[in-house]
Amino acid sequence: MNELRRDRLSGEWVIVAPNRASRPVSPEMCPFCPGAPEIDARKEVQILRNRYPPLSLDASPAKGVDSAPARGVSEIVIESRKHNDDLAYMPEDQALIVFDVALSRMRELSESEGVEYVHFFRNRGGKQGVTVSHPHSQVYALPFVPKRLQLEQRAFRSKACPVCSVELTASARCVSSDVNATAYVPYAPRWPYEMHVVSSHTPELWEISKKELSSFVRAIRFSMLTIDRLFGLLTPVTLTLHNSPKPRANFHAHAELIPAFTDRSRVRFSTGLERSADTHLLDLLPEEMAATLRGAANSCQAQTFNS
Ligand SMILES: [Zn+2]
Ligand SMILES: [Zn+2]
Ligand SMILES: [Zn+2]
Repeated sequence: MNELRRDRLSGEWVIVAPNRASRPVSPEMCPFCPGAPEIDARKEVQILRNRYPPLSLDASPAKGVDSAPARGVSEIVIESRKHNDDLAYMPEDQALIVFDVALSRMRELSESEGVEYVHFFRNRGGKQGVTVSHPHSQVYALPFVPKRLQLEQRAFRSKACPVCSVELTASARCVSSDVNATAYVPYAPRWPYEMHVVSSHTPELWEISKKELSSFVRAIRFSMLTIDRLFGLLTPVTLTLHNSPKPRANFHAHAELIPAFTDRSRVRFSTGLERSADTHLLDLLPEEMAATLRGAANSCQAQTFNS
């Protein structure tokens, strides 16, 4: 029943998945807690097939022009046995296992035939389209490269890496860093307080060393704490990992963190422009955002060292 349809005006693929309409909006029993039928209670971190998969390996054939089978894989990484746990606050070892498990599965899926891009994302917070609040992330093995990744891939065609040569050289937009990872506000962020996290110049995150991965995960978690310090505990935020689309080429893999708010009280007015033209409007200087985030990061650090 599901299919991919290509928008005849923009050329972008849309996943049409009517099977998802039947999924419960707030299920009575958490499907990710120990005791739920698909959960192995012995494992702290595990991967499940999506019960209402937008993509599947036995997808029905295409229905005509600008249609393609919704062939792919959609899986859920259950990050903890505890329902009220959170990626930013769980023990460091466990967070590392979450990324280890997700990245090895992503590598495996990326090697499968017909998979053009493996996408990782996680939403935190009720306003971000989360059906189940139990901490989890999602991995989609897609038969096409999403538009955003196509655009990013294009930026790496020139010799100089835009991350290494531009983003990482601007200290005014750096939020936190150690020898193996940096969190920064990009030169032209699309969202208020958007942060990117990078480690060494590698096309795919499953290629970075253990040491780099642990710095990278620490930087992601510290960025989430920083956002919480600024906007309040457990601020809704989307985290995504961007790797090189196929064919694997020059690319600097990175994480992007997108908080849902400008601040606790201010409503954003640019949504109409974003929705209607995919053009983003910021009412703050990215360098000012970075300075504010640095202030919040410093106070998080002070608290960590004093406790
Ligand atoms: Zn649960
Ligand atoms: Zn680079
Ligand atoms: Zn990106």
